[in-house]
Amino acid sequence: MMRKEWTANEIDLIAQQSESGFRFLQQLNSDERAKLMHLIADEIEVLDEALIEVAEQETALALGRLQGEKARTVNQWRRYANAVKTGLYSEARLDVSEDGQMDLRKYNKGLGPVVVFGASNFPFAFSTAGGDTASAIGAGCSVIVKAHPGHVYTSQMMAEKIHRALEKYGAPKDVFTHVIGDSFELGQRLVQHPLIKAVAFTGSFKGGKALFDLGQTRPDPIPVFAEMGSVNPVFALPDFMTQHAETFAKQYVSSLVLGTGQFCTNPGILIALAGQDLQLFKEGLKSELSEIPPTKMLHAGILANFQQLATEVTQQEGVQLIAKGKGTDQTELAQAAIYETSSTYFLNNPKLAEEVFGPFGLIVSCSNKQELLTVLNAFGGQLTITFSATEQDIESQQELFQLAQEKCGRLLFQGMPTGVEVQYAIQHGGPFPATTDTRFTSVGPDAVKRFLRPVSFQNWPNTFLPDELKNENPLQIDRLVNQQWSKNKIIK
Ligand code: NAP
Repeated sequence: MMRKEWTANEIDLIAQQSESGFRFLQQLNSDERAKLMHLIADEIEVLDEALIEVAEQETALALGRLQGEKARTVNQWRRYANAVKTGLYSEARLDVSEDGQMDLRKYNKGLGPVVVFGASNFPFAFSTAGGDTASAIGAGCSVIVKAHPGHVYTSQMMAEKIHRALEKYGAPKDVFTHVIGDSFELGQRLVQHPLIKAVAFTGSFKGGKALFDLGQTRPDPIPVFAEMGSVNPVFALPDFMTQHAETFAKQYVSSLVLGTGQFCTNPGILIALAGQDLQLFKEGLKSELSEIPPTKMLHAGILANFQQLATEVTQQEGVQLIAKGKGTDQTELAQAAIYETSSTYFLNNPKLAEEVFGPFGLIVSCSNKQELLTVLNAFGGQLTITFSATEQDIESQQELFQLAQEKCGRLLFQGMPTGVEVQYAIQHGGPFPATTDTRFTSVGPDAVKRFLRPVSFQNWPNTFLPDELKNENPLQIDRLVNQQWSKNKIIK
């Protein structure tokens, strides 16, 4: 199944075919695209245990987790389809002058063919038929998926299902293209192809940033929406710690080791004030972690990465071991571990703020409240920041709370950041380096917005307008009769 090399001509052909798939989707209105998306959901839903078995073999993820993720993926298509159907993302606008001489209408249309790089840690929900593909098709964009090498067969099975749904709908297969290659070159050349208009990526900072730079340095730059992970700081504040130090240890450990720590929302760094409560919390961590068996990671490369990064962090000055899980640290299984450092060492060593993708935690102890703020200030953009806090804590830490809003996409009051709801009000994104565009989310129906651009129509006869803008369209959301028309005109 693996392709060694792709010629420039072959890549050009793929891009051209995808462009023709885009043209087809552009003829469909929101309602028709929603129908197609529901058909894709139906096809994926009937994939049976054979798919789960293949995914299990390729990713080493637990059966229950895979079944849940597959269900979530189907749900994602349906939710996004329903959102698209409402016309919400068309954002249709209509301005008519008092004398009827000027008629301006605007709506959002798809950007063009989108290249999607699937994530290794979500073979269904963030890969071939995952949220990026669903939101791009919802926006009316054709998709080229560059299969993740960690689950090529799973990817192929999902791609076949999408193609079957396209056939049932009567859509050309070029609406969705699945490509497999064993070097970075294929993906890089696709990102650079002039017919490609946007890119979606979930994975490492190195990969996401490399593809983002490629997108920006094209003669015609394009948006590259890369989600590149986070350390998801957890601020365990004093009043909360006094009340919950011991029970909180259990909650923190279960989130840290969930899915062998292979979640972009893994709570990798916890910040707390030094003292008796932190001591109690660390005792709790020790006993909780001692029960955690070593587990298999997604693939050998991720394990090697984990072991290397964890070793690098633990070898830094001022870093001490707090607790380890069962097993040893140099096997084919990942051993969970939690270390500690002080705010002084942390603030003087950027290495300590880097993500260690896997079941690895670092506690940063601070000697006073001001240091909590200094530590938060040292972090780059994050997907999430959690306040393990009481209301009293927040009242006395307003500055910390305000600054956190500048630093992340999702702020949690208590609870743990792992587990991302596929809802309208979710924000799965954050300031760089968590993502390359903090204005957008890659989870929830609003993910569709990434692949749209506004177009205005001035004085066009009704027949030629897109369905979303026609007079008779009930989806039209704003009909503004502009009383100040002439005053608002500018010459540009
Ligand atoms: P990755 O190495 O970033 O790869 C993801 C995809 O991007 C793969 O298809 C890969 O191509 C492609 N890619 C990466 N660098 C590229 C480049 N310079 N040019 C062109 N294509 C490139 O991610 P991964 O394999 O899933 O995991 C590796 C590490 O990523 C993990 O250890 C972890 O640190 C991090 N990670 C983060 C998240 C997150 O939540 N953001 C999720 C998963 C992993 P190939 O197919 O050719 O390899």
